[in-house]
This record gives sequence, C-alpha cells and structure tokens, in this order.
Amino acid sequence: MLEPENGPVAVEPPVIRPVGPLGIDPEELNTCVSCGLCLPHCPTFRVTGEEAYSPRGRIDAMRGIEWEGGSVDDEFVDFMETCVQCRGCEPACPSGVPFGSLMEQTRTALAAERVVTPWWQRLGLRALTRPWLVLAGSTALALAQRARLVPSRVGLGRIPLRRGPAIAATGDDAWLFTGCVMDAWQRSTHRSLAALMSAVGVGYRTPGAGGGCCGALHTHAGLTDEAATVAGRVMASMPGDAPIIVDSAGCGAALKEYGHLLGTDESAAFSARVVDAAEWLAGHVTELPEPEGKRPVVIVQDPCHLRHVQRVHDSVRTVLRPVADLVELDDDGLCCGAGGAFSALQPELAGEIRDRKMASIDRAVARAGGEVLVASANPGCSMHLEAMLAERGVAVRHPVDVLADALGLDRE
Ligand code: SF4
Ligand code: SF4
Repeated sequence: MLEPENGPVAVEPPVIRPVGPLGIDPEELNTCVSCGLCLPHCPTFRVTGEEAYSPRGRIDAMRGIEWEGGSVDDEFVDFMETCVQCRGCEPACPSGVPFGSLMEQTRTALAAERVVTPWWQRLGLRALTRPWLVLAGSTALALAQRARLVPSRVGLGRIPLRRGPAIAATGDDAWLFTGCVMDAWQRSTHRSLAALMSAVGVGYRTPGAGGGCCGALHTHAGLTDEAATVAGRVMASMPGDAPIIVDSAGCGAALKEYGHLLGTDESAAFSARVVDAAEWLAGHVTELPEPEGKRPVVIVQDPCHLRHVQRVHDSVRTVLRPVADLVELDDDGLCCGAGGAFSALQPELAGEIRDRKMASIDRAVARAGGEVLVASANPGCSMHLEAMLAERGVAVRHPVDVLADALGLDRE
C-alpha cells in the first residue's frame, strides 16, 4: 500500500456529539461544514443580508444550544421562526444537510415548551382537520374580502364564494387527493385534474372520512404528534395500492414524507404511492387530446415544495410545453415567501421576499413582450402572488388548469 512521505495519515475519530436540549439528531446537525454555498438560495438571507437569517447561521444557532450550553432566548426563536421552511438550501448543499428535518426537530422542541405556535394558531390548525369548518370559514373570509374587511397588507388572493359540487368518483384506478384549503379555495383545479384523468381513461376516487387535511402546516408549526395523527387518518382514507395524485405541491410533499414522519413500513409504502399531478400527467402526455386554439405564453413559477422537496418541477414543463410557450424566471427557484402560514405569521418578511419574486416576474413579463399568465402548482404560492399580479393585469393559474384550458376539456 502506498503511504505519504511522512508516513500514514492519522485519521481523526469522528466526534460523537450528545443529544442536546432541543433533541436534534446530532449526526444530522454535524453534517454542515459551514461552506456557505446555501446562502444565495435562502430567501431570508437574500432580503436581510444577515448571516443569522441564513441556513448556516441557523445551524450555528442550533449548535449553540445543543452543544455549547446556550439557552433558548428571543433572538434564537426569531431566527427559527423567520425560516420560511422553503428548503431551498437543501439542493444547494454539497454535504446533504437535511435542513428541513433540523428545523422540524427544533420547532417540535420549541412548540412542546409553548415557545412557538401560540394557542390561536393551534386552534386554527385543529380547524383544518374539520372540512365543514374549513368550508364555512372560507365562505366567511370570502365575504369579508368583498366587504373590504381583510387588510390589503395580508396580500391574500380572492377566495371564491362559489366552489361548485364536490368531485364525484368515476372509478378506482387512482385516488385524487382533494385536501382542505385547496378544496375550499381552488376546487376548480381539482375539476381540471379530474377532466384530465378522465381524458386518458383513468377513473378516480376521492379520500374517505378523515382524508382532508394533510398535516403539512402542523409539521411546519412543530406540532409533530398532531401531524402524525392527521397522517394516520389520511392513510386510512385511501387504502389499497392505487396511486395518489396530488395537485397541491405542499400537500404532495407532506404526503411523500409520511414515511419519514411516522417511520413505519406502512407509511413508507403509502408515501411511495404519492405522485404530483404534473409528475403523473408527464407520463400520459402522448395520450392527451390535441390542443385547441392559440398557444398561451406562460411564466412558470416553481413552488418550493415541488422544486426543492419533491424535485419534480420539470414535469410541469413536460406537460405544458406541448400546449404553451414557456418563459422561465431568472431567480433560480428562489422562494416567493408564501411558506404555508408564513405569509400570515411573518407578513413583512414575506412581503419583502415576494417583492423579489415579483421583480423576477416583471423581468419575465418584459422578455415575453405580450399577454402572459403565471402558472403555479401550489395554492399557497398562487394566493400569495395573486393580488400583486392582478395589479399588473397578469392572471395566475394552476398548471393543470392551463393544460385543461388548452385542451378545451369540459369540466362541468
Ligand atoms: S428553509 Fe428556506 S428560509 Fe429556511 S434556511 Fe433554508 S433556504 Fe432559508
Ligand atoms: S448547510 Fe450545506 S451548503 Fe449550507 S453551509 Fe452547511 S454544508 Fe454548506
């Protein structure tokens, strides 16, 4: 065996770190090598310019508590609460730091001590698991919007007053996951997906009782036990082995992570059945009917949970390219600031992050040089962007709506 001139290289034994007060997996926390390559991909670092609001800064802060005897103070909580949980730092990281998992573990510890996620937020999250309450609350919010009682700084898109009948089953080839807020605010998108599935001859069912809320927002808020309970109900609502097609990027990401959340063979098998709508349609493009009419010009906005978590954002391009002229944004998939409940909890920071996204959209509109629309595969992102886009006379649609429109599919 060849040896260096000065003899064999002494290999340092790996440092075994203890589990600290936050209960973060020390191996996961150890993976960061502080290279800083993730910083340009972090929306909160981009708008503040401060290391503490970057992934590396947040990991340093976690290590300070876990390994260096630091204590949880207001500053630490602020660094954690201002993370959008967009996970834009993950694909940028050469060391494979599981930042989403680190943040979830931290928030779980903070929520257990009631340092984050106040009672009113917990109450709201509990309401999401009751479909009648979500529908009633959405109608009340829609009426409040029309009475101009919702402050414009909230920046929420227009919630529909009429959503039409619930999606009716047509067969048992696949499940069409309808969700909670998505079904109340964008049921028309489910109708588009249903029409596309029918167009390729695939019958679908919708989840049974308990299969509404996916628990993504519970996980974000650190309510891991509640998220696990919700996940159990969702799994029970869609038995069998048929694929589960999801047209909300955030919900799809959550369902695909049930295996990680619950850590059981059953949950891993369930997650393996979950497919994003565009990901699924990309395998059926050649079976779709021919497009009708003029090709729209479409700016593609990648939701973080499609691009950074599910990593299937190219499927949107695969399904839209045959029917539309696509324009790409120039911000390398930077988050728009919606982040589940982030835009409501951190409105100022979310607004600043959205301003960067809007600047990128404005440049794309200028490049397109004509009538355009924006395609976004996540209800949170589209509602967050809608008000700003409306001021510019630009509509935001879900990619499956764009596709169903282009194919002239009947959705009644
Ligand atoms: S998850 Fe998003 S906001 Fe949080 S540190 Fe990573 S890139 Fe920044
Ligand atoms: S999280 Fe990854 S990219 Fe960011 S500083 Fe640590 S090792 Fe580097």
